[in-house]
Amino acid sequence: MSDIVVGIDLGTSNSVISLVLEGEPLVIPDEHGNRIQPSVIYFHEDGTTDVGNVAVSYLLKDPVHTVYSAKRLIGRPFDSPELRVLLGSFPFKIVSSGDGAPRINMYGAMHPPEGISARVLAHLKNLAENYLGMPVRKAVITVPANFDEGQRRATKRAGELAGLEVMRLINEPTAAALAYGYGQNRRERVAIYDFGGGTFDITILELRGNVFQVLSTAGNSYLGGDDFDHRLVTSMLNAFERQYGYDLTGEDAIKQRLKAVAQDIKHKLSDQEVVTARVSEMVPGTLTELELEFSLTREAFNKRTHDIVETSLQTCEEALSLAGLQRAEIDHLVLVGGTTRIPLVNARVQEFFNRQAVMNINPDEVVAIGAAIFGQSMVEESQAPPPSRPGPPPAPALPSGGDFGDDAWMDDLGDEELVEIELEEDDYGELDATGAFGSGAAGSPSGVPSGVPSGLPSGIPKGPAPRPSYRDDEPTMGGYQPQGRPLPPPQAPAARPAEHPPHQHPQHPPAPPQPAYQQQPQPAYQQQPQPQFQAPAGGYGGGAPLLIDVTPHALGIATVGGVMDIIIERNGSLPLARTRMFSTARDDQTRVVLPVFSGNSRRIEDNRQLGVLELTEIPPGPREEVQIEVTFEVDTNGMLNVRATDMRTGLNQVAHISILGEAEDINYYNSDNLLM
Ligand code: ADP
Ligand code: MG
Repeated sequence: MSDIVVGIDLGTSNSVISLVLEGEPLVIPDEHGNRIQPSVIYFHEDGTTDVGNVAVSYLLKDPVHTVYSAKRLIGRPFDSPELRVLLGSFPFKIVSSGDGAPRINMYGAMHPPEGISARVLAHLKNLAENYLGMPVRKAVITVPANFDEGQRRATKRAGELAGLEVMRLINEPTAAALAYGYGQNRRERVAIYDFGGGTFDITILELRGNVFQVLSTAGNSYLGGDDFDHRLVTSMLNAFERQYGYDLTGEDAIKQRLKAVAQDIKHKLSDQEVVTARVSEMVPGTLTELELEFSLTREAFNKRTHDIVETSLQTCEEALSLAGLQRAEIDHLVLVGGTTRIPLVNARVQEFFNRQAVMNINPDEVVAIGAAIFGQSMVEESQAPPPSRPGPPPAPALPSGGDFGDDAWMDDLGDEELVEIELEEDDYGELDATGAFGSGAAGSPSGVPSGVPSGLPSGIPKGPAPRPSYRDDEPTMGGYQPQGRPLPPPQAPAARPAEHPPHQHPQHPPAPPQPAYQQQPQPAYQQQPQPQFQAPAGGYGGGAPLLIDVTPHALGIATVGGVMDIIIERNGSLPLARTRMFSTARDDQTRVVLPVFSGNSRRIEDNRQLGVLELTEIPPGPREEVQIEVTFEVDTNGMLNVRATDMRTGLNQVAHISILGEAEDINYYNSDNLLM
């Protein structure tokens, strides 16, 4: 039984833990029967904490010591644009630590966001252990598809701090697709529409039997159930002002209370057509009590919030266009996240895709169930010799776990930050014309390490993007010269899915004709009994599925004008590789530095620095003769390898930077050392 692997949906608002027991996926409830655990932690003054449902009551009673939405902070630098936006909205104190990461200040103890998430995970682990009566060690944890390597690494760290061996992090939409289609030999395209508390994500996957391939993913980190609540809060504040002439908009405590009322109203309106509410608030500093009594119909609520829903649909358009698909080419629609319970959301998304959503899936539980199914398949594969393809990456050493004293948490987190080498003013931009994409082989397979499928189609047609000059103010810099050369041929792995271009799908059965949405009135989600998830006949013994993801962010190099020079495009199917030619800016230059960034903006300041590629010991020579070929490769695990070769000598220098998984120091060594 030590082979138990739990699946955990570590959500921004709520978390769920699941496992496959005797072939059936099961959501583990707490002692009160709650299957969903709020990702909320309350810190008592003595350092003890309450987690989950118990902690929720403190959101109003003691907001300064009640931490929520740690997932919004995890793995992000303190001065990131996202944090700048968020900082003012939290009632608890967030400060910057010496290493540039945020810390949550609780009675003077500085908690990193992963320390907070670790408490949620430890709580879930505890629930499972109490439920099962045995220790739980191994977990598959889900993360949003657009998490970058820093966020993934911090999530993994949170798991380890909670005493879990994180077998793998998988993307939330992929987990939902697994719960929907694993073991069912489906061949179809699925849209996973995930509307949570603070974020919205849409992912389009293609299922080919045991292969789950992401075609595109798009999202909005600032769109979620909270926006519906805020609309209602604003309405209530306006009503107070209209009725009594008091402007309460600056009163944080009042707004917190109104938010709780708003959320309650919103939930009720998912089940009933009209809700009556009564709110009373004291004007701060006075004995004046203001009372508001009102009723709100679902129709009025819909009117006030329909633009939020439409915004999510624009993101759906974006995902479709990234995948090069029409709406009608989506075969099934899976709804995920609590906000899909809002009838307007539910109806509009089905209308948009002109398709009835898959009904027997619980939007709150499907992600955790998918993670549990994946975990179970890993166990089964490891027990079934010989494996048809290499297993998962080696599990990390078991952490000591269990010691949740603040100091222990802090110590544990240590200084494992991604190594970022300080750029010297002098080095920055001392590089000439970057080349064009190698071989121009759009989405072409790379020579990535064997054992992972290559030659898989890429998600979107690619072409060289217009390139900025590396340094606008530097007269010695030339323009970009396409000097690519063909990439090495793919190494054919043993078990590889049939290759075909992504959007032709020759073996794909045509989608069954779908009746117009209007002809098929949908009962509200809640009125549909949600049957327990059905395991496929024969259980989950089909071996670990092959998950093919896409690059959620572009990868590139900072140029002096503050522009990111994109080398690996967004939404490229993994694995993929791109090659560029560089030359030095000066004669006899022996060192160049390339700051590597990830992000979807062309502006560097909106993106995130992953590390620095440094090329040293370049044999001196006239600048026009120096040609350095730089290859960016991202493997199926999302690991970025950067290889640089001096074309005159054939000498390789290798930098290794991770964009999705464990980050490693950037190591530099030349091919001589490699051969030893
Ligand atoms: P996350 O993935 O961000 O943790 P969830 O998927 O748990 O979030 O969704 C939480 C959001 O769903 C909250 O905004 C909550 O108010 C909303 N929600 C939950 N149940 C309902 C309901 N019955 N009707 C409307 N909204 C709901
Ligand atoms: Mg979620």
